[in-house]
Amino acid sequence: MTAPVPPPGDGPERRLHTLVGRDGLPYRSLSSGTVGGHRRTRVYGRLDCPSALRAIAGGHCVTHRVFFADEATAVEAGYRPCAVCLPTEYARWKAARRAARP
Ligand SMILES: [Zn+2]
Repeated sequence: MTAPVPPPGDGPERRLHTLVGRDGLPYRSLSSGTVGGHRRTRVYGRLDCPSALRAIAGGHCVTHRVFFADEATAVEAGYRPCAVCLPTEYARWKAARRAARP
């Protein structure tokens, strides 16, 4: 038996998502990304970040919301980890930044 083929136009694979790449420029992707970010504050975090969800529920920031395929891409694009949902990554980023300063 072969797996049933989903009807055209109905599967998530048919939907294209806009992700931000390592160069900070948006591109169309079949996957929805694993990390969310805010274009203005240059912070990235989990998709279910309480801080981000609160902002979205308040009606702000949605237009500035961006998505990345993974954390490495977000970092290369110049974003920093969110202190709320990624405390470990945030601490590491903070320590690294302090070390880089003269
Ligand atoms: Zn967060």
